[in-house]
Amino acid sequence: MDEVTELNALTLDLSSVTLNNSPDSWKWLGDSSGVFSVSSVRRLMEKSAHHGSNFVLEWCKWIPIKCDVFVWRAEMGRIPTVDALRRRGITVGDGLCSLCRSGEESADHLFISCVVASTLWQKVSHWCRIPPIFAFSIRELLELHKTGNFKAGEKFALQGIIRVGCRCLWLARNNAIFSDKEVKALQVKSIKFFGKVRLHRVMGNGMRAKLCHISTT
Ligand SMILES: [Zn+2]
Repeated sequence: MDEVTELNALTLDLSSVTLNNSPDSWKWLGDSSGVFSVSSVRRLMEKSAHHGSNFVLEWCKWIPIKCDVFVWRAEMGRIPTVDALRRRGITVGDGLCSLCRSGEESADHLFISCVVASTLWQKVSHWCRIPPIFAFSIRELLELHKTGNFKAGEKFALQGIIRVGCRCLWLARNNAIFSDKEVKALQVKSIKFFGKVRLHRVMGNGMRAKLCHISTT
């Protein structure tokens, strides 16, 4: 019976084929002209690209690129938190967050619900003179600069500050795990962002250096 089914399928496929005496040739099906071109490939890719609800991270150019890459990976669940490692079958200690020791470590916990993260965001909102920072997901946290009534420069600043903050939390977590450094409190030097004179400093290395003062000491 299988052979009969296959024969029927083959006959059906061949029924639309017309043979003639001209030589065989290659034809690119991605373009009506039949000629291959890079632009037609690009058009095809754009057509089939399915952004849907996928999050597209805008690059923030005034912070170190590793911070952008880090939050991009964190949002996709691609950083090696305890819950992510467990999903891959890797057992890691007691699974507790090494910053607060009171919740299971996950990206959402580390950057949002952990008491250390909450303290950091509270301080950031105070320095930036903006309403308290609340988010229910990493994506929300990374989009926060778009939701407030901020000027363009302020958005730009807050976007970078949050990303650097996430990276610093991760470094603090790594220090706690691998260097056994206890996290007493996140010490962030006093930084003022949104004043008249202050905002331009966001663009310079001075601001970057100050942000690096976020530490675990
Ligand atoms: Zn925690």
